[in-house]
Amino acid sequence: MKQRVELTWLSQAEVVSFVDGLGEPAYRGRQIFAALQHRRLRSFDQMTDLPKEFRARLNEVARASSLKIESHYISSDGTRRYLMKTHDGLPVETVYIPEEHRDTICFSSQSGCPLQCTFCLTAQLGLLRSLTSGEIIEQVLIALNDAYGVGVRPPRGTNLVGMGAGEPFLNFDALLNALRIMADPSGLYIVPNRVTISTAGIVPRILDLANVPDRPHLAISLAAPTDELRNELVPINKRWPLEELLKACKVFEQTLKPGERFTFEYVMLAGVNDSEQHARQLANLLNRHGLKTKVNLIPHNPAEPLPYQPSTDETVARFKSILESKGVHTYVRRPRGRDIFAACGQLAARQETLNTCKEITSAGVPN
Ligand code: SAH
Repeated sequence: MKQRVELTWLSQAEVVSFVDGLGEPAYRGRQIFAALQHRRLRSFDQMTDLPKEFRARLNEVARASSLKIESHYISSDGTRRYLMKTHDGLPVETVYIPEEHRDTICFSSQSGCPLQCTFCLTAQLGLLRSLTSGEIIEQVLIALNDAYGVGVRPPRGTNLVGMGAGEPFLNFDALLNALRIMADPSGLYIVPNRVTISTAGIVPRILDLANVPDRPHLAISLAAPTDELRNELVPINKRWPLEELLKACKVFEQTLKPGERFTFEYVMLAGVNDSEQHARQLANLLNRHGLKTKVNLIPHNPAEPLPYQPSTDETVARFKSILESKGVHTYVRRPRGRDIFAACGQLAARQETLNTCKEITSAGVPN
């Protein structure tokens, strides 16, 4: 049997050309694109404004969705975590974080992750596979439908962060394609300026992103101020050590437009990378490379098999004040959704670790 065409990862022009191949006029393509990306419908049967025979034909040759929700969890702080499955049975996790003036959806770019950062639970899954553009977009559609109802316009703006499972820069083309489709005003209309992509430091892709005209914001996960320590915590550092990474960051920084954000993320691991000396080394490193970017300190989110504990509030405050005394703007990120293992580094589809969580079965969840 011929494979059905996934329509969620096609641009509006591509959907138009797809329906043209079925002998249908262009407006039908625009209608379908809006139904998928703006009305957030997840099946052709819901598109009752299309003729019945055409819907039947679409069901034969195309698919309107492929991800399924397995379960979801709601944190006491309102954060929602979704465990989804791809058509081939692989886990995909997405987190929806409501804030006063906006919502943030943290999406995954891969199922599992090939990088072996020692403080991240996802690393323990290894790489299952990279996600398609459609699977990236569907995470956003599903989270918005669940939070507000199918097709209901979110009352606040939506920001996206590519900080879920996986290394986004090892799935670069699919990611950029997904961002282009999500930016379409007749679809989700989430523009790159509302998106931040986080990388552990895939240097060639940082340089590529510097040349992308409509690009998302960039965050670099540093985690250590010396090669010795970073080789251990973020082993991809052996491939692209700090000197190369920060040179690429400098090239990127020189292409920043007014108002564009560029940050370093630094996970704080008690007794490992949080000493006063580490703070001084970090400030000196950034200053030596002439980088004016800000640093986000992320308290480590513990998870059962990981051998780390979060730094104390006092240690984090001290670390921040040393960085600031050396002219480095520093913010402390507040962990969200820790009680449902939704925080950074905790996404590993481990249902058995979640039995203490308030679980809501997939029944009744708009899919
Ligand atoms: N691979 C990409 C994106 C996924 S990780 C990257 O490395 O940036 C997203 C962020 O979560 C990174 O900044 C990472 O350092 C952080 N992180 C991973 N595990 C964590 C944990 N257990 N606690 C806190 N932050 C963690």
